[in-house]
Amino acid sequence: MDCGLFQGLKSLRLRNWAAFPVAPSTIDAVVLTHAHVDHSGYLPRLLRDGFRGPIYATPGTHALCRIVLPDSGHLQEEDASYANRKGFSKHTPALPLYTEEDASRVLEDFSEVPFHTSVEVVRGVQAIFRPPGHILGSATVHLTLAGSPSRRILVSGDLGRPSHPILRPPEPPGDADAVLIESTYGDRRHPSDHGDSAFETAIARTADRGGTVVIPAFAVDRTEVLLLALRGLMREGRVPDLPVYVDSPMALSALALYRMALTQGAPDVRSDFRSNGDPFDTGHLVETRSVEQSKAIHERNSPSIIISASGMATGGRVLHHLAHFLPDPRNTIMLPGFQAEGTRGRSLLEGASALKIHGCYVPVRAEVLELSLFSVHADQEELIAWLRGMPRAPDTAFVVHGEASASAALRKRIHADLGWTAVVPADLERVQLSEAALTL
Ligand SMILES: [Zn+2]
Repeated sequence: MDCGLFQGLKSLRLRNWAAFPVAPSTIDAVVLTHAHVDHSGYLPRLLRDGFRGPIYATPGTHALCRIVLPDSGHLQEEDASYANRKGFSKHTPALPLYTEEDASRVLEDFSEVPFHTSVEVVRGVQAIFRPPGHILGSATVHLTLAGSPSRRILVSGDLGRPSHPILRPPEPPGDADAVLIESTYGDRRHPSDHGDSAFETAIARTADRGGTVVIPAFAVDRTEVLLLALRGLMREGRVPDLPVYVDSPMALSALALYRMALTQGAPDVRSDFRSNGDPFDTGHLVETRSVEQSKAIHERNSPSIIISASGMATGGRVLHHLAHFLPDPRNTIMLPGFQAEGTRGRSLLEGASALKIHGCYVPVRAEVLELSLFSVHADQEELIAWLRGMPRAPDTAFVVHGEASASAALRKRIHADLGWTAVVPADLERVQLSEAALTL
C-alpha cells in the first residue's frame, strides 16, 4: 500500500536513501491510494531497485502521477547537480535518488482500476477503491484477504473533508477487521465557520497597503480550491479584482486535468458541481509557464496574488517570490496547507524572523497567515466522525501517517470516544491479524 517519499526534517528525508526494508524484487504489487508524492514518490526508485509488479491505482491517480512523478525525478536530478556544483555531497559525483526517465518508466506499470470495482491485486487479495474527497483520483482502499473466515483491512489513504468544493464527500468506511487511519491533523480542529472572512479581509488589507499576497500552495488540488474561492469572492465583490498568477508548471498541468475532470464528469466530482464558464478563472488569471514570465511578475509594482509551489516552501518557484516579497511589511504570505516539521513553511508559521533561501537569510517582515480552511485533510473531529460510520468496531485501529504528537492524540480520541483498541505502530513493526495469520 502506497510508496511515498519522506519529506520535511532532514532526518526523515535521509530515510529515502536507506535500503528498502524488503528486497523490491520480492514485492508482488503496489496499491496506490493517490498521487501525492508522500504516497507515490518512491515508486520510480522501487522499480529501479528491482520491483517488477503492477501498480494498481484509479485512472485519476494515474493521470496525476504522469505530472507529479516526472517532476519529482527532475527535482532529484537538480538536487544532485546542485550538490555536485557546491561539492557538499559525500559521493562524487552525487547521484539522484532517481531520474525523470526512471519516473517515466514506472508510469507504464500502472494498472488502472475504476472506483467501486473489485480487483484481485495479488492471489487471494481483492481491493476496492472508494473516493475519500481528498484530491482527484484519490481513494480509500478495502482489502479482502481470502481465508476462512476472510479478513478485511481498510486503508484510509489521506482522508478529505465533507466540505470539498469540487470532490464528492468521503464515502462511509464500511466494515473491516483492521483499519489504518491517517492522522495528519489528528490533533487539530479546522476553523468551524466557512472561514472565508480571514482570507478575504487579509487580501483586502494587503491590497490597501499596496502589497502582494504570496500563497505557497500544493500544485495538486490546493491551487484549484484557492482559485475557486478567489473567483467566488471576486465575483461577489468581496475582494478587489487583483491579477492572480498561477506560477508553477506542475500546478498548471494539474489545473488542466481538473478542468478536464469537470467537463467530462469524473466519478469523484460532486454531481451538484455547477459552474458558469471556467470555474478557476478569476477574470484576471495569468498562467505563467516560462521562467521569464515568472521573473516578470516582480517588475509589477501594484497589488496582486501569486499562487506558486511548493506548498511547504521546500523548493520550486515560490522561493523566488518569498525572497522578493518577505522583507516588505506591505505583503502577506498565506499558508493554506499542512506544513511539516523542518520546512520553511513551518518556520514561517512558528514566527521565524528570517528564512534561509538560496543560501541567504531573508528577513520576514511580511504578514504571515495560516489558512487551514483550505485544508484538504480531515481534522480530528472529521476523522472520528468517519470512523464512527463503521458498522462495528474493528479489532484494531492502526493510527498512521502523522507526526508523533498528532498520531498520539488521535489514538487517544479513538480509544476514549469509540472504545476501540487503537495503536500507533512503530516503524517496521510486524503485526499478525488474528485467525487468518496474515502479517501487516
Ligand atoms: Zn495526500
